Amino acid sequence: MRSISILGATGSIGASTLDLIRRDREQWRVVALTANCQASQLAELAREFDAEVAVVADESCLPALRDGLQRSGTEAAAGAQALCEAAARGADVTVAAIVGCAGLAPTMAAIQQGRVVALANKEALVSAGNVMTAAVAQHGATLLPVDSEHNAIFQCLQAGEIADVRSITLTASGGPFRTWTLEQLARATPKQAVAHPNWDMGAKISVDSATMMNKGLELIEAHHLFPVGLDRLNIIIHPQSVVHSMVEYRDRSTLAQLGPSDMRVPIASALAWPQRMDTPCQPLDLAGLGELTFFAPDEERFPATRIARAAAEAGGAAPAVLNAANEIAVAAFLAGQIGFTRISLLAQQVLECASFPDPSNLDDVLAVDTEARARAAALLERA
Ligand code: NDP
Repeated sequence: MRSISILGATGSIGASTLDLIRRDREQWRVVALTANCQASQLAELAREFDAEVAVVADESCLPALRDGLQRSGTEAAAGAQALCEAAARGADVTVAAIVGCAGLAPTMAAIQQGRVVALANKEALVSAGNVMTAAVAQHGATLLPVDSEHNAIFQCLQAGEIADVRSITLTASGGPFRTWTLEQLARATPKQAVAHPNWDMGAKISVDSATMMNKGLELIEAHHLFPVGLDRLNIIIHPQSVVHSMVEYRDRSTLAQLGPSDMRVPIASALAWPQRMDTPCQPLDLAGLGELTFFAPDEERFPATRIARAAAEAGGAAPAVLNAANEIAVAAFLAGQIGFTRISLLAQQVLECASFPDPSNLDDVLAVDTEARARAAALLERA
């Protein structure tokens, strides 16, 4: 039996993870489950999985969580500190699946326990970069990528040495607006943006997929996870989302990982690593699919990958600034305050409007995040 904590248990990745645990219940002991404010849903999950502790980040939701946990064996807690304390209880595996930089501090708390952290929360690694990878090394933790592309790359890298890698190619579905013109993009609505053609995901990552900022963030994530150099990291559009990414070695062998567009596959790979486990996913039907297609990205219509690559090249605080500005822009778009094409533009504007000191620890990263959010909000207000 292994123990597990899920940070962001009420979200899309949380649900997929719990679905796998549910099918193999006797193998897992659940330590901590967390959410932001969906207290009754969290309480239900905590009861079902007999969690040690359930935590809501939003303290105003604690009474509802306590209500839902009455006469259960689960402790209830709330707030940012409680989230970190829950992550620090030290499960064998912690699934980091909070959305946004809000997941950074609890993910770092889990890393400090020196166990396995299955990372879905890409914004945390994008923002903290070297601060997070240094903590992983210092505490002897194992960081396993859950993002389907990075999980694919991780699997392909088992077949060779990182020194022999010539290039890594991240595949991107292109999102729901892949074929739209700039004029159409300017009129895209939140409802259209969250309707991803292949993946069923939370609202924020769905919008990121539509702008291609998701792939930009993933480029930065890959840069930290797989140190082959930014110039060896490529992006290719692959609308079917069957090939999840590829690694080319020096002998020109290219290894790819294929699978259904279902996050339970990469989550299972991380949960069972270094072994394998069953999933309820359908097998790939390549004959049924008929053809797999690939295109070069169009950075005129979707500038986010160019902006993200520049932020990665600049290094220091730039990726954290990019991420913070993007989070503000996506929230404003979802709230109907700005148009779709303004999202990437705002991220670029915030990156250009100030220089931030290089972060060297968690507090520095969080300070950059706060300041960049304030600047993005101010730019929005001015507009
Ligand atoms: P969801 O929006 O579905 O879920 C987010 C989770 O985080 C929920 O449990 C939510 O709680 C919690 N949460 C939100 N805000 C806060 C906060 N301020 N403090 C603490 N907890 C918070 O997101 P996804 O599951 O889609 O994505 C989670 C992460 O995984 C993201 O970083 C995303 O980029 C990454 N990812 C997701 C994929 C997917 O297929 N969904 C694929 C690859 C990566 P509540 O329910 O109470 O709001």
